[in-house]
Amino acid sequence: MGQPSIVWFRDDLRLADNPALRAAIDRDEPVIGLYVLDEESDGIRPLGGAAKWWLHGSLESLGERLRERGSTLVLRRGAAASVVADVAREASAGAVFWNRRYGGAEREVDATLKTALRDDGITVASFAASLLFEPWTVQTGAGTPYSVFTPFWRACQSMPTPRAPLPEPREMPGPRSTPASDDLDDWKLLPTAPDWAGGLRETWEPGEPAARARLREFLADDLADYDRSRDEPSAGATSGLSPRLRWGELSPYAVWHETVASGQKSGRFLSELGWREFAAHVLYHHPDLATKNLRSEFDAFPWPRLHPAQLRAWQQGRTGIPLVDAGMRELWHTGVMHNRIRMVTASFLIKNLLIDWRRGEQWFWDTLVDADGASNPFNWQWVAGSGADAAPYFRVFNPELQAQKFDPHGEYIARWAPEYRVDSPEDPPEPIVDLGETRKAALAAYEQMRRSSR
Ligand code: FAD
Repeated sequence: MGQPSIVWFRDDLRLADNPALRAAIDRDEPVIGLYVLDEESDGIRPLGGAAKWWLHGSLESLGERLRERGSTLVLRRGAAASVVADVAREASAGAVFWNRRYGGAEREVDATLKTALRDDGITVASFAASLLFEPWTVQTGAGTPYSVFTPFWRACQSMPTPRAPLPEPREMPGPRSTPASDDLDDWKLLPTAPDWAGGLRETWEPGEPAARARLREFLADDLADYDRSRDEPSAGATSGLSPRLRWGELSPYAVWHETVASGQKSGRFLSELGWREFAAHVLYHHPDLATKNLRSEFDAFPWPRLHPAQLRAWQQGRTGIPLVDAGMRELWHTGVMHNRIRMVTASFLIKNLLIDWRRGEQWFWDTLVDADGASNPFNWQWVAGSGADAAPYFRVFNPELQAQKFDPHGEYIARWAPEYRVDSPEDPPEPIVDLGETRKAALAAYEQMRRSSR
């Protein structure tokens, strides 16, 4: 046996449609899977608590699946560029393959590593696997990035159809000796004291087999009703695939092709995948999306002094506003929140509590199992009005009207915040702010910003 191939897994924790894994198998040498927990490289954002919980389960599943097919998954932690190079040396690897990432710090790590490995005479190649349309391939007629979704998505649709997904490998040659691996439990990704992950365990089973099962079920049972019911949080009509796509347990190529092959009317659902592509496009061109307003006039926004008790009430779902409280508790319990309610809770934080969007983005980052370096800040900036193709700031969601419209029978609120039911024995919390007055204050702050940035 010659020099093994290393597949460095990152946001692609799957065997099916994994071009880096395919390239390794095609080399006809032993295959070693590697995952690096990187909390050290400059600018790499440490994972939030719910994301760590998901990662643990997904790595467990991936490791098992690789072993069943004859290979292995080596776990290491540290600054990825040096760790991957170390493992390549220890294994006397002939090649290292990975699928591309699009955040600024991640790209820097990858570029540094690529140079170092090539200097050592190791073959290196990277592939497109997480996005259907890589950010630099979609450009306006003037050769610039898009900042508005509709023309972006139109341009994507005029490009060649995304390639067909690659089949799942049945077996792969394992190495004769495997580089040392950390024990997954030693990474302590699961919460223990206290163990707050009970709701996550009830809701999810991380890993590729469950991801594939959910895609099949969604296409068979829910897609037909998607357009009509997608905005109703109690309908369970959306795919629930966001953590699967975030961690790459499912490939967007598979989702795309299987959706189209289902023969159903699917334009709306595919365009939601388009929003995911657009968020990545915007992140690629604005690497500091999570910290910096895309529209710089928002740098002058007069955020008042933080009111920590109000921030806490929002985080804990105790604002006294039923739809907001229901959403924040759904988030805490399940690690996700329905898209419409994400918009309502974000708008409430930014505009009714006048708290900087970055605080909300960080809370979502810590509590979402689908917390994504592109989609999370992109959508927060969308709600704040500071982002690309954003909702205008003066569009302040009214959570009471939103509840009447999208939860007309109060089912969602009853499920997550039952004390608001008329027959509840428990008194609900009083509203911590007046919606009308705070809306006026938000619009006044916006006017002040506009005057100061003129
Ligand atoms: P479906 O309706 O079934 O949509 C299918 C897929 O399309 C989703 O799984 C997701 O990958 C993608 N998608 C749908 N809507 C969006 C969108 N607005 N932006 C980007 N991709 C989208 N999504 C994340 O994946 N990670 C995040 O961290 C995240 N943070 C958000 C923060 C805020 C403030 C808001 C308003 C939205 C955020 N979203 C985020 C987008 C959206 O809410 C979720 O993708 C969606 O609720 C996931 O449910 P689903 O898989 O059932 O969606």
